[in-house]
Amino acid sequence: MSTKAFASQADLQDKQVSFTRLSEHAYAYTAEGDPNTGVIIGDNAVMVIDTQATPVMAQDVIRRIREVTDKPIKYVVLSHYHAVRVLGASAYQPEHIIASQDTYDLIVERGEQDKASEIGRFPRLFRAVESVPPGLTWPTITFTGKMTLWLGKLEVQLLQLGRGHTKGDTVAWLPQEKILFSGDLVEFDATPYAGDAYFRDWPQTLDNIAALKPEKLVPGRGAALITPEQVQQGLAGTKAFIEDMRAAVEAGVRAGKDLRAVYQETYARLQPKYGRWVIFDHCMPFDVTRCYDELTQYPDPRIWTAERDRQMWETLEG
Ligand SMILES: [Zn+2]
Repeated sequence: MSTKAFASQADLQDKQVSFTRLSEHAYAYTAEGDPNTGVIIGDNAVMVIDTQATPVMAQDVIRRIREVTDKPIKYVVLSHYHAVRVLGASAYQPEHIIASQDTYDLIVERGEQDKASEIGRFPRLFRAVESVPPGLTWPTITFTGKMTLWLGKLEVQLLQLGRGHTKGDTVAWLPQEKILFSGDLVEFDATPYAGDAYFRDWPQTLDNIAALKPEKLVPGRGAALITPEQVQQGLAGTKAFIEDMRAAVEAGVRAGKDLRAVYQETYARLQPKYGRWVIFDHCMPFDVTRCYDELTQYPDPRIWTAERDRQMWETLEG
């Protein structure tokens, strides 16, 4: 294996943005595998789900929203704590920023480290990073399990359906229209990042999403899924990746191999099936490291710092 540039520092190609109408009330802002933003337009207010990485990048979301409605953007929902999804929040000037209590706890515990780590990993995704205000993005409302908002007659449920991509994962669900915004619990034609994941729980959480029978789904990365068949494909692809990785890493751990050997074998096993998904080479070292941790001595994800990122990369790709 030849030496690879750290994480996505060599990824400099801008992506094409799509703003897709899913219903009278739901839109998806997607960008060929870059992080997505969901938009829900109620009778009296707009809700944004995941913000983009910087306020300057969020301005493009706001521009698209203003092409379809002049209602105020009152709510920002954070599907989880990752910096690439939350640091654009200030641009919307929302009345409230809503997250699960578990996500709030993760921001307290590791928000600063995550911010530094993510900006270092993927500079292109933090365009105009100087527009991010100092400090962190703090939720103003937290919930545990389930929270329902009524945007006039439109019911929006915020649900914790289990751990997966992180401990605090939240999905937004429109029961009247059967549209789901999954955050990074589901990806489509994009590699799931699992560096902060719970491999043991993620497949069941995907089954819990499937049990809602969504007809349309906005994944964390990749195109909006606009038929039940496409939703099924997105759920199945994400689940297969997580289960295939866990099986490969577990085989190596059982055989007593070290992390570097497990990484090389897991990469070789998964590359033929998933190597065409965006950010595959970026995610694999983080994902395998976390999976190896979970199967050995760390039930909860260890905190990634900019320094730990580099050390890990050097160990696996150096
Ligand atoms: Zn994430």
